[in-house]
Amino acid sequence: MSMSETTTETGIIFDIKKFAIHDGPGIRTTVFLKGCPLRCVWCHNPESISREPQLAFFPEKCIGCMRCVEVCPTGATTVRNGEMKYDAGRCNVCGKCAEECYAGARVIYGKSASVAEVMREVEKDIPFYENSGGGVTFSGGEPLMQLKFLKALLVRCKERRLHTAVDTCGHAPWEAFEEILPFTDLFLYDVKHMDSGKHRELTGVGNELILENARRLDERGAEIWLRIPVIPRFNDDIDNMERIASFFGGFRNIRKIEFLPYHRFAEAKYRRLGMPYALSGVEPPTEEQLEKLAEPFRRAGLKIATA
Ligand code: SF4
Ligand code: SF4
Repeated sequence: MSMSETTTETGIIFDIKKFAIHDGPGIRTTVFLKGCPLRCVWCHNPESISREPQLAFFPEKCIGCMRCVEVCPTGATTVRNGEMKYDAGRCNVCGKCAEECYAGARVIYGKSASVAEVMREVEKDIPFYENSGGGVTFSGGEPLMQLKFLKALLVRCKERRLHTAVDTCGHAPWEAFEEILPFTDLFLYDVKHMDSGKHRELTGVGNELILENARRLDERGAEIWLRIPVIPRFNDDIDNMERIASFFGGFRNIRKIEFLPYHRFAEAKYRRLGMPYALSGVEPPTEEQLEKLAEPFRRAGLKIATA
């Protein structure tokens, strides 16, 4: 891949988070790529699931100026009986309403960006990476869904000698992992459920490919931080944790295991996107529950951190 090929490649991103401290070692910039092959019922980033840009509405910010109605070319946003109405079926996500909304009540999640544009943002914080042992993390969504774009970004980062991490759900062809392996210093690897049927129920896919890819990455010497979302009623049973501890206990290259406890911050995001939320009323796990769930890992000689 030549330099010009890498910089002109484009992809769809929905955020670039600066000064991230939970997405790998040190201070990092996390680039979020849009699109995911899984449909986890608890997804904390619902704006990441679809590959396409999406319109979100923040009702608490709306000042009722109706500029969005005036500029909407498709009639998706209208006024009826003095009230603003939105018809998603007519919206082509042109973004005109978001451009006109000074209150920031309408936001488009997802935009096309070139490698050069992303790198310009990433490179602004090089002194912070150098001082903290940090670098760049590619997250999502599932970044491997945009393989060419991801690889081009990783190649550029390595040319700049930046530490790279890829946050992955593991559900991608092995060949995709092989392509990025030489340019990836760390994999943040999610594991959700050891029972494939249950995994399918919770995420829409079985777990065979995910476990197999993890095993192959370990065999190839890739550095891994294992991340386990803890979702009450879904995967927080001790049997599941015992099976995870036993499967990954023999891996040689897992440097860290983290629980990612369910939280409720995502619920508002679902409302803003007009998406149904399956976990209404579910309470986050308590410290004691997390302690208990960590026991099988301790018994297997593994230490658990909570992100
Ligand atoms: S332009 Fe923004 S603030 Fe004005 S009515 Fe539309 S959503 Fe509300
Ligand atoms: S994104 Fe475009 S089509 Fe959709 S509501 Fe806004 S202005 Fe109308």
